Amino acid sequence: MVSTEYERRIAARFATFDQDGNGWIDREDFNAAAKALLAEFGTAARSTKGQALYAGAEAFWQGMAGIADRDGDQRITREEFVNGAVKRLHDNPERFAEIARPFLHAALDLAAAPDGTATVEDTARVLRVLGVHEDIARTAAGALDTDGDGRVGEAEIVPAVARYFTVPE
Ligand code: CA
Ligand code: CA
Ligand code: CA
Repeated sequence: MVSTEYERRIAARFATFDQDGNGWIDREDFNAAAKALLAEFGTAARSTKGQALYAGAEAFWQGMAGIADRDGDQRITREEFVNGAVKRLHDNPERFAEIARPFLHAALDLAAAPDGTATVEDTARVLRVLGVHEDIARTAAGALDTDGDGRVGEAEIVPAVARYFTVPE
């Protein structure tokens, strides 16, 4: 089995999206991520923040499906992910930021102060719920705080997530 560093990283990105681990990415994975985040922060699905998160998850799914679901079966297989999402988003990280932004904004908002920023600790909670390993979530959240003020805002998290998923070869 040939496994390059690049392939290993792509597999990790796929696993992050495939929240239920059934081998493909679909709407359920995005709903599961939203549900897990709401549970973590004790937020009701019917609340304004809960509704924003589900709307963001749906927009994220629609955006990903539009890019990668080539056969239109409402599932993104690993092959579709690699040949569609990874290649196309790699060429256009701004496009990824655009489709992920409403979800990331709403996720951060679950923990954010009125100014829209969350502490590094709360950002690490978001990352853990989304499948980032316990050991690296705190470090990753700290790295998101690019201006070092101890808080993470949308302007910091969106480009960082876009960079992570539009991994260079
Ligand atoms: Ca899945
Ligand atoms: Ca498909
Ligand atoms: Ca900051």
